[in-house]
Amino acid sequence: MPGMPDWILITGSSRGIGAATAWRCAQAGWDVALNFARDAAAAQALAARIEQLGRRALVLQADVADEAQVAAMFERLDAAGGRLAGLVNNAGIVAPAGRLETMTTARWRRVFDVNVIGTLLCCQHAARRMSTRHGGAGGAIVNLSSRAAEFGSAGIYVDYAASKGAVDTLTKGLARELIGEGIRVNGVRPGIIETDIHADSGLDLHDAASTIPIQRLGRPEEIAEAIAWLLSDAASYTVGAMLDVAGGR
Ligand code: NAP
Repeated sequence: MPGMPDWILITGSSRGIGAATAWRCAQAGWDVALNFARDAAAAQALAARIEQLGRRALVLQADVADEAQVAAMFERLDAAGGRLAGLVNNAGIVAPAGRLETMTTARWRRVFDVNVIGTLLCCQHAARRMSTRHGGAGGAIVNLSSRAAEFGSAGIYVDYAASKGAVDTLTKGLARELIGEGIRVNGVRPGIIETDIHADSGLDLHDAASTIPIQRLGRPEEIAEAIAWLLSDAASYTVGAMLDVAGGR
């Protein structure tokens, strides 16, 4: 619709890195679609703050691992009017830290369903809307990987690390598949960032800062900044990059 700002859809934006990214994107002038799984109140509170900036905010509940829910989410975004300019695949989960022998297949499947299938599903729906091959005007996708993809997270969560390795690979492949159709795909690999995700793993991060060259954990806003840059035209020649934002780790 002419005159309307473009939408950025950010999965898992009720808190943490996703919420910081939504706020940063709104400040940059985009309208923001906020996806979440469970915490409607947090997503709605963020939407209200974004609307106070004069931007539109659309709150979209969907489990990114659920094909029907993802399809319905994109249809609700279509119905809101305006163009999808960008997608941030940020929704991601860990599971309690432990060795491989202690893990269940149900846990592995859920980690891969959310982190990998969820990312693929959202990329698919976004490509159908943004690709010039389908009549779209192009756009940008940013996938959240992790430095764990490289380190492997031995004794902590090799399943999570492997799922992020898959995110790295699909990001590089999709970047080459879609750049000829106007879509730039890139990824960000955060180090250890201060969010609630670590409560789900049960990890004690008390001494973690001393293992990081910069000697502190990262803040969600520091990841949001990198994501916003990759979404923007300032990154117009950046395609298939995995940007490490990890304090030197
Ligand atoms: P977080 O604080 O745990 O927040 C996760 C967000 O994802 C929440 O908004 C949550 O919504 C949403 N979510 C969870 N499962 C979902 C699902 N199935 N469908 C839709 N939304 C879902 O996580 P974070 O630390 O900000 O991490 C964000 C991303 O960065 C993840 O991909 C993570 O792997 C990656 N990352 C984080 C770190 C770190 O140290 N924090 C490091 C490397 C990579 P609800 O609360 O409403 O369920």
